[in-house]
Amino acid sequence: MKTILEKIDKNQNNTDIIREAGRILKEGGLVAFPTETVYGLGADALNEDAAKKIYAAKGRPSDNPLIIHITNMKALEKIVSEVPEKAVKVAEKYWPGPLTMIFNKSDIVPYGTTGGLDTVAVRMPVDAIAREVIDAGGGYIAAPSANTSGRPSPTTAQHVAEDLTGRVDMIVDGGAVEIGVESTILDMTVEPPMILRPGAITKEMFEEVIGEVTIDRTLIRPDSRQVPKAPGMKYRHYAPKADLTIIEGPLEKVTAEINKRAKEKSRAGYKVGIIGTEETVAEYKAGDVKCIGTRADESTIAANLFGILREFDDDQVDYIYSESFDTAGIGSAIMNRLLKAAGHHIEKLV
Ligand code: AMP
Ligand code: MG
Repeated sequence: MKTILEKIDKNQNNTDIIREAGRILKEGGLVAFPTETVYGLGADALNEDAAKKIYAAKGRPSDNPLIIHITNMKALEKIVSEVPEKAVKVAEKYWPGPLTMIFNKSDIVPYGTTGGLDTVAVRMPVDAIAREVIDAGGGYIAAPSANTSGRPSPTTAQHVAEDLTGRVDMIVDGGAVEIGVESTILDMTVEPPMILRPGAITKEMFEEVIGEVTIDRTLIRPDSRQVPKAPGMKYRHYAPKADLTIIEGPLEKVTAEINKRAKEKSRAGYKVGIIGTEETVAEYKAGDVKCIGTRADESTIAANLFGILREFDDDQVDYIYSESFDTAGIGSAIMNRLLKAAGHHIEKLV
């Protein structure tokens, strides 16, 4: 398959590109496009054959359901059997935005899109290009992250091209995304509603609007024998090729420990990567040191996380040592993704 790569200039009229993307989607093809969270791999969510192509292109397990992207509340009513009152309140506050809600599905949503489930995940993105592509494609676009299954989610069109060239019809290049980690998933089919994946919208932000919200226990204690409620969360995601270890503790001790380990591994002939922050990078003496952002604003860390994991793959490092981050705000999403990338290998210094 030939993949068309089209760059969108936000200051220009891009009608032709959007129209072409819409035509491909309506004909059952695949179009990757930017959203505010990560790049999505889009297909017509109501066309089972089109949705199935997503699984093939990504190498995604068929029991891992897709999120349907819409641009307005009318569209929501068509694909769910009921919109709970609390969902209306949450939507009023946080849609459009980096939030996915789970509902009971209506009959028009094929099981090929929901991985065989009677529930459906729905998101209304705020990104202007995403919205134009969704509308042009018919208004119901299934769009998981546009990476090969198991690789870090793509935050630039180059990441998408690395993974999916020859496997999709079109990639719309809208530049780097804003947030960099996937949407928060909130299950509205249970009472109280439950967070199945942390993201930019936090537990506290939901509780301001609808009162008590719980968090899937498997996100907090991954070693528990329970299976995560979002099927995709059970897979080892975001895994870099290197062995990644997170070192947690007082910052001076962490930098000293990482320096010690980097030195040992380098001496033994291995290539070592280090994930530091603006506050600490100057402390690191050896290895391939990358600055992930500033602790003063963790949204910078979220924005760089997946890109840095991909860079370490390109640099072919053998071991990566990362600092740990605060779990307030977007930090819970950062640590969730980082822990998954590390296969939950975290060491705590006291
Ligand atoms: P991605 O689009 O690649 O960010 O992955 C979508 C995530 O949403 C995966 O973790 C899925 O398991 C989860 N998901 C999608 N639909 C449902 C659903 N009906 N119930 C629970 N989780 C879902
Ligand atoms: Mg994904």
